Amino acid sequence: MNKMVKKSEMVSLATGLTRPSRDEAEAAVRTLIRWAGDDPDREGLVGTPDRVVRSYEEFFRGYDEDPREMLQRTFEEVEGYDEVVVLRDIRLESHCEHHMVPIIGKVHVGYLPDKRVVGISKLARVVDAFAFRLQIQEKLTAQIANTLQEVLQPRGVAVVIEAAHQCMTTRGVHKSDVAMVTSRMLGAFRDNGETRREFLTMIGRTSV
Ligand SMILES: [Zn+2]
Repeated sequence: MNKMVKKSEMVSLATGLTRPSRDEAEAAVRTLIRWAGDDPDREGLVGTPDRVVRSYEEFFRGYDEDPREMLQRTFEEVEGYDEVVVLRDIRLESHCEHHMVPIIGKVHVGYLPDKRVVGISKLARVVDAFAFRLQIQEKLTAQIANTLQEVLQPRGVAVVIEAAHQCMTTRGVHKSDVAMVTSRMLGAFRDNGETRREFLTMIGRTSV
């Protein structure tokens, strides 16, 4: 069960900024409902500001998580294991920072350990800590890769994200089948074609 962060009266861990009160947040939702053209006092909508604010606590819980701290506990006894470690098809749920609508897709993470390995569930938690914020896919890809590189100091890191952006599928250009693919390759995955190809094969791609 994820521990739900109570956002009221708290400072954002990620930005250091003080949050508005919960009442202010709910009032903002009422304003948007009126902006859309509806009546926030009609029966079906009276509970909506409360529900939206609670949804935001889930959608944006990453602002209260520290991805670097998640990676602190590592294992050094790797028995000479020096092959690529890959976690593929990590479910991605994020929100685009330009329109605040969902980005849904998959993240594939690989690294080439150098002495230290980390529990694989931690890789997924690092993805979530950055994904549950307002994002653009390019920045999300780089943040995941750079954090793994900085904290684990492996011989290389690879991150590939494939995702659909609802700001493209349900508004604007209304293109329903497009997936955006982004990648960041560091160390051996950037410099060594064989290592890169091995990773791409493991995630079922021939290129990025
Ligand atoms: Zn967007």
